[in-house]
Amino acid sequence: MHVYRKPPLKNFGRVSLFCFCAAFLFSCATTGPGGKKSLILISDQQEIGLGNSIAAELEKTEKPLDDARWQAYLTRVGRKIADLSDRPTLPYHFTVLDNDQVNAFAAPGGHLYFYTGILRMMDSEDELAAVMAHEISHVVGRHSVKTIQNYYGASIVTQLVLGEKSDELIGKISGLVLSLAMQGYGRSNEFEADEFGVYYMDKAGYNPNAAITMFEKLAAMSGKTDRGWFENLTASHPETKDRIARIKAEIAQMPVTSTQRAIKTSEYRKLKARLPAPKEKKP
Ligand SMILES: [Zn+2]
Repeated sequence: MHVYRKPPLKNFGRVSLFCFCAAFLFSCATTGPGGKKSLILISDQQEIGLGNSIAAELEKTEKPLDDARWQAYLTRVGRKIADLSDRPTLPYHFTVLDNDQVNAFAAPGGHLYFYTGILRMMDSEDELAAVMAHEISHVVGRHSVKTIQNYYGASIVTQLVLGEKSDELIGKISGLVLSLAMQGYGRSNEFEADEFGVYYMDKAGYNPNAAITMFEKLAAMSGKTDRGWFENLTASHPETKDRIARIKAEIAQMPVTSTQRAIKTSEYRKLKARLPAPKEKKP
């Protein structure tokens, strides 16, 4: 049976009793639109520090695209959404990486990465905004931090809180978080990022239908290429159909002033023409 999901804002605003009680010891952070709260043990400063370590590690092997116009454009679209999200004050970093894989991901502390491979599949700024808003929603939902808390438990958190950040500890956490960021944060976090993402892209003035065209495009490419994937969005995966159905249900609740907005294509197409050609694969 298809379970209908309520549209945003009616669904938010739940604060658990556990969160309320624990607030005396730790902080309850805003983790979504409408004042949604969660118990978060790792502070913003600790998350930013961890994110910077992960970004430094990642950028040893991944090469940013050498095109200032692209980097500025990605930052402009990213800031537009981040500024009106429920986590606007993080020092966000938006980076295009020169990599043919079809992927985009969010590391802790607001480091967002887009591969040239996924940018080549998009045809409008609205489609870029759909993926951007999804990734920013992972940051707002603190999905990486929650994963660290759940996976490593109190001992790691205590070490981080006390500032005992050994290189070995950071290395261990970085590895886990990066692989999760690249592969998706799991079923419930993906549903949440999809839901918040559509809400944020609409709020930023984009046509939310671009989320559907983008996700359907990504789902359809599975099996046709072995050059990577975006967060397990594959046509054969039952979860993909479920995700697209939920996004459609959320958009169906939106006014026509949102769903009939003009899709912004002209600047995107000019920038798309600047992307380097895919590299020849070595035999
Ligand atoms: Zn995701």
